[in-house]
Parts: sequence; structure tokens; C-alpha cells
Amino acid sequence: MKAVRFHKPKDVRVDEVDDPKIEHERDIVLRVTSTAICGSDLHIYNGLVPQLREMTLGHEFMGVVEEVGPAITNLKEGDRVIVPFPMADGTCWYCRHGLPTACENSNHLHGPEGNVVKGKGGGIFGYTDLYGGKDGGQAEKVRVPFADYGPRKVPAGLTDEQVLFLTDVMPTAWQAAQWGEIQEGDTVAVFGCGPIGLIAQRAAKFMGAGKVIGVDIQDYRLDMARRLMGSVTVNADEMEPDEFIRQETEGRGADVVIDAVGMEADRNILQKAAAVMHLQRGSMEVLRHCFGSARRGGRVSVVGVYALPYDNFPIGQFFDKGLSMRGGQANVHEVVDELLGLVEQGKFRADDIITHTMKLDEAPYAYDIFNRKEDGCVKVVLKP
Ligand code: NAD
Ligand code: ZN
Repeated sequence: MKAVRFHKPKDVRVDEVDDPKIEHERDIVLRVTSTAICGSDLHIYNGLVPQLREMTLGHEFMGVVEEVGPAITNLKEGDRVIVPFPMADGTCWYCRHGLPTACENSNHLHGPEGNVVKGKGGGIFGYTDLYGGKDGGQAEKVRVPFADYGPRKVPAGLTDEQVLFLTDVMPTAWQAAQWGEIQEGDTVAVFGCGPIGLIAQRAAKFMGAGKVIGVDIQDYRLDMARRLMGSVTVNADEMEPDEFIRQETEGRGADVVIDAVGMEADRNILQKAAAVMHLQRGSMEVLRHCFGSARRGGRVSVVGVYALPYDNFPIGQFFDKGLSMRGGQANVHEVVDELLGLVEQGKFRADDIITHTMKLDEAPYAYDIFNRKEDGCVKVVLKP
């Protein structure tokens, strides 16, 4: 079958590989009908999340069940399902406590430490050997472990595009807003107008935000934030975003600030030089802005990925302003059913952010334009 293989940073190819097989009684094999490229894939693509051997990428995918393992009774051949991006077994202590992304049984490197290479969280499809080392779904087929816990059947009448983003974008954006504990009328600032930031802006409105401010450095994405999400926007390359956000909030700052950029924030030359001198890759530039633009007592919610420690973490500012902060990988299994219901009722959507639909063969080009933010690219769906 064909699969999108990571070879080395900036080198992904569509290769012929062996078809996946049932390896465990709780597995299914899925024939993929739609799969998307995520900002998280770019961290592997750009070498910030290291991967030393070839691997099939992709954690946002859906399709039709082709084969079921002997222990699977909830699904049968021909069922159409979406699959949450975290691999979780549903039975360990963390899964039982509402934290499937911390699943103890889906990643051999799992542990309590949370260090750069030691003691990681649960497994994620197609997300490097640090996160389980399992091939992902940017392929014609994929093996899905724990298939009696993750996959959700798609109700008849919904298109792939309507439900595909239940695998990641919608739950992640939803969780970002939930972690912000939004109160009626709050001002919510969202750094990043990529797929996650855009849908987080929509979720913030849905949860009662009075004003939503979108921040990015790409005008075409800011345009989408205004047009589709009804947000006020600021280009962080043209104006100091913290200042803009304070102006919009009577000088105090936003009640809730969401970081939907993460460690790959675009930085100036000086910051890049400083990062190299300190042996740091990526930066916490955006997190600094989150702390800076939140009001005293405000809430900072971090869904943009950070994979490394950074010097000069502004703990003094965090303390002085009395902020609270929450972050991590989204616990998709915990929110996906509610979101599927909202999609079915036509109350919440994410399909309007798709800018490109391409064949699986075009994945190398798709990665390139999504990474460089070219051709108006916001979200790519690949059709195997
Ligand atoms: P993306 O690359 O499309 O979006 C990132 C956006 O940040 C881009 O629009 C970019 O222009 C903007 N940006 C860069 N530097 C900036 C700056 N200095 N100030 C303001 N904006 C800036 O990616 P995405 O798919 O939207 O994902 C966003 C982040 O969320 C990534 O870090 C991704 O890994 C992460 N993510 C986390 C989870 C989770 O479970 N926590 C799930 C999915 C994605
Ligand atoms: Zn993703």
C-alpha cells in the first residue's frame, strides 16, 4: 500500500510499504478515506520532535473498517469511523481518570518524569518513537489498536469533511477553551490562527466569550479569523500584540489567553541566535506574550506544543500577576462524543477551514506549502 513516510527533516515521501495486519485481539485494520496534516506533524517535519528512523506519519484520519481482531464486538467490517489521535487502552489508571493522553499501556517509553526523552505520555498515532512508535494514518490503511475504546462510528448523512476534525482539531480547540474556564462575557485572546487557533476562537464564542481576539503573523489567516470566527485581529509582526490586547480590554489584558502556536513561533534573528547559544530549539516567545497579555488573575491555556525546557521562564510575572495556567495534549476521548453530537445538530463545525484537498501522492507538496504558509494554505485533507 502507499503511505506518507518520514525519512528525515524536510523529507517526506509517498512510499510502497507492507499492508498492516491485525497484531492484537483488540486491533482493527482501517481503510483510510480521509486524513489531514496537522501543525503537530510540522514539529517532526522540521526536526523539533526528533525521529531517527522512517515512519508513517498522520494522527488525523478516518475510514472504513476492513478487518477486526477477535476481541472486537463493537465494530464490524464496513463500519465508517473516526479515530481519536491519542492511542489509549481505556483500562489503565489514567484512562479511568479522564486522561487518555497519559495512557500507561500505549507507549513503551511511558513514565512519570515528562523529560525530553524519558518518561513520556501515552502513544500518539504516527508521532515518533517517543510517543509509541506506531505507524500513522496518512496511508491507504492503518492498524488501530484498542479499537473497542477509540474509534467512533459516524452517523449516516455526515461527510468525511464534517467529522474528520473530530480526531484532533475540534477536541483540541474545545479543550483549549475549556481549560480557559471561560465566563459569560470574557475577552479571550488566541495566539495562532492556524486550524487549532481558529476553531479555539469559535469554541470560545460558543462558551460565552464576549470578545475574541485572534493573533497571527499571516494576514490570510487573520482574514479567516475575522471572516469565519467573527474575531477582532492583530498581526503580531505589525503591532505589539500585548499592547493591542490591553487596548481592547481597558488596559487590563484578556481574561483568558490561549496559546495555539507552541514552540515553532516565528522569531527574529536575535532570538534565534540566543536560542542557538543556549542550545535551545524553538522558543517560548508566544507563551511570554500569553503571560504579558493576560489580565491579573487571568487564565492561560496552552495547546501549542512545547517539547523542550526553556531558560528564563517568566515565573516572576506569573506569580506577580496571579495567573493560572493549564496545558497539554487534548484528552480527545473525553470530549469527542459531545462534539459529534454538536456536529450532527449543526451547532459546531470545522470543515470551513479546509483550503486544500489533495491525493495522498501529493503529500510532500502539501507538507511544503502548509509548513511555509504558502498558497493560502490553512488545512490540507489528503484522499488516499
Ligand atoms: P499551524 O502551524 O497551522 O498554526 C500555527 C500558527 O501560528 C500559524 O498560523 C503561524 O503563522 C502562527 N504563528 C507563528 N508565530 C507566531 C507568533 N510569533 N505570533 C502569533 N502567531 C504566530 O498549526 P495548527 O495545526 O493550528 O497547530 C497549532 C499548534 O497546536 C501546534 O503547536 C500543534 O502542534 C498544536 N497542537 C496541539 C494539540 C494538543 O493536543 N495539545 C493538538 C493538535 C495541535
Ligand atoms: Zn493533530
